[in-house]
Amino acid sequence: MRKLVVLGATGSVGRSTLDVAARHPQRLQIHALTAARDADGLLELCRLHRPSIAALVDEAAAKRLRAALAAENIPCEVLAGASALSEVAGASEADIVMSAIVGAAGLLPTLAAVRAGKQTLIANKEPLVMAGRLLMREALRSGACILPIDSEHNAIFQCLPPQYRCGQPPVGVRKLLLTASGGPFREWSAERIATATPAEAVRHPNWSMGPKISVDSATLMNKGLELMEASVLYGVTDAQLDVVIHPESVIHSLVEYVDGSLLAQLGQPDMRVPIAHALAWPERWESGVGGLDLAALGQFRFASPDLERFPCLGLARAALRAGGHAPNLLNAANEIAVERFLNGQIGLNQIPQMIAACVDAGLGVHANAADDLEAVLAVDAWARDWCRRELQRFSVTTITAVEGARVHA
Ligand code: NAD
Ligand code: MG
Repeated sequence: MRKLVVLGATGSVGRSTLDVAARHPQRLQIHALTAARDADGLLELCRLHRPSIAALVDEAAAKRLRAALAAENIPCEVLAGASALSEVAGASEADIVMSAIVGAAGLLPTLAAVRAGKQTLIANKEPLVMAGRLLMREALRSGACILPIDSEHNAIFQCLPPQYRCGQPPVGVRKLLLTASGGPFREWSAERIATATPAEAVRHPNWSMGPKISVDSATLMNKGLELMEASVLYGVTDAQLDVVIHPESVIHSLVEYVDGSLLAQLGQPDMRVPIAHALAWPERWESGVGGLDLAALGQFRFASPDLERFPCLGLARAALRAGGHAPNLLNAANEIAVERFLNGQIGLNQIPQMIAACVDAGLGVHANAADDLEAVLAVDAWARDWCRRELQRFSVTTITAVEGARVHA
């Protein structure tokens, strides 16, 4: 029996993780669940999954949850504050930690899990983008086994030899090919994309996800973040990474070997597949997801991404090539820009404008910054401040904020 901690339990990946875990009560016990401030959501999960600990960042929400659990006689310790998340992630009782918080907020708890040598399942890609070298260094030191959950990176992991471990460059590999659905605006003109509303941006054709990653998928920044994520997890350069648009989202990514072989992982676009793979690894468990009817699918399509309509992908590649803190600056600026877009303060086409300007300004200021935790957090905070200060330059807007979409749910 192994004990599982789910960071970001009330989110899309968190709930899918619990769905898979609940199918294996003989193998997994839920040790702790965390969320930002959704006390009702966490209460519902505590009723179902009976964790030993529940943690909320928001103190008032934690108080409400504590009272509700007591009223229902559900035995569960409730912790409050951001530091409680790192505490449960690194707790000696925990064996496996699912990192499924959205954004940079997941860095410290993910780092705590890695430093404590946990089997760390990483869905939360932003910490890998902002502090990839630091996380991989710490994993090497502690012996933590990192398993990728992002469907593309999980697919790549599945296509590498069984003895492969993240952090080392794979042997005999020419290229990693990330597939991308193309998002909801794949066929839209640049003019139409510029006027896209938050509601349109979060309506992903194939995947059901939280609002932040849905907007990232609409701008293709998600694929850009994934290039950096792949470079960190697999120790490969920008030149060994390609993106191909595949609107069906059935081939989740491919590995091209030096002999010309391409290996791919296929499956329904359902996060329970990569989650079950990593929870069971190196075994295989039921995920609740069926196979594919290939004949019914009929055909797969492929195309090159259009960098003119989707400049975020080019910005991400440039940041990957630039190295240093460029990915960190880009990630922070993107988080602020996406939040502003979801709140109706800027247009979709202003997201890349804000990011480009912030990365440009930041690279000058932070050219010689170290890559330790302190520097990572300082650069991240600098970029957020810069974007907030400069926001005036980037606000036009007549865009309607998406109903109920909150970046920090
Ligand atoms: P979501 O918005 O549905 O859920 C986010 C979770 O994080 C919630 O539990 C929320 O309470 C918690 N959270 C938010 N802000 C926080 C903060 N400041 N401190 C602590 N906790 C906080 O997000 P999601 O779609 O599940 O995505 C989670 C992560 O997984 C993201 O990094 C995303 O890029 C990645 N990912 C998601 C999918 C997907 O299908 N949803 C696929 C691949 C990768
Ligand atoms: Mg992905």
